Amino acid sequence: MSDDHRVLLLGPPGAGKGTQSDRLAAEYGLDVITTGDALRNNKQMDISDLGLEYDTPGEYMDRGELVPDAVVNEIVVSALADADGFVLDGYPRNLDQAEYLSEQTALDYVFLLEVPEAELIDRLTGRRVCAACGETFHVDFDPPEEPGVCDVDGGELVQREDDTEETVRERLRVYEDETAPVVDHYRERDVLVEVSGEGTPDDVFDRLVSQIES
Ligand SMILES: [Zn+2]
Repeated sequence: MSDDHRVLLLGPPGAGKGTQSDRLAAEYGLDVITTGDALRNNKQMDISDLGLEYDTPGEYMDRGELVPDAVVNEIVVSALADADGFVLDGYPRNLDQAEYLSEQTALDYVFLLEVPEAELIDRLTGRRVCAACGETFHVDFDPPEEPGVCDVDGGELVQREDDTEETVRERLRVYEDETAPVVDHYRERDVLVEVSGEGTPDDVFDRLVSQIES
């Protein structure tokens, strides 16, 4: 198996990017690179040459401030350079980041996981979390033995604020606004492959593998 695939997964919240990134990484020996991990691993990186307000990413993060694109770009691209092959999940999230990435790194595959909005809403609003231990369930896809009760410790299962229908619709709208230009960026470069994200995780994984191996 080649281990130098450079893969980008795009798709809305609930499309299964995290699951599929992990599976592709395991199948092909790739690193999963997310903006959050890259930032956490480089909190003390010297970015004073960028001429911004702070000299390290950690100073933004510790203050709860948005880390500027210039910093995110530098950190993610250096993480990519250190990997033999990678799956990028959650970056680029806007057109500026996508344009920077295209200048720095060639990608072998850009996949867009497509799931109808109604199914995304079902997936995201059905999530329940144990108030005691944090174990997650899904009312349809991964139900507990007894509705509303954690299988692990009998704790109460609750819906997080993030997973209510109103919040989910807002998250999807924000995704659409930010990411539509990113999708267009790759479509214009003729590298975008649209893959159905419907069905089970196995179904989706098989579709991705068959694209990589075709
Ligand atoms: Zn529990």
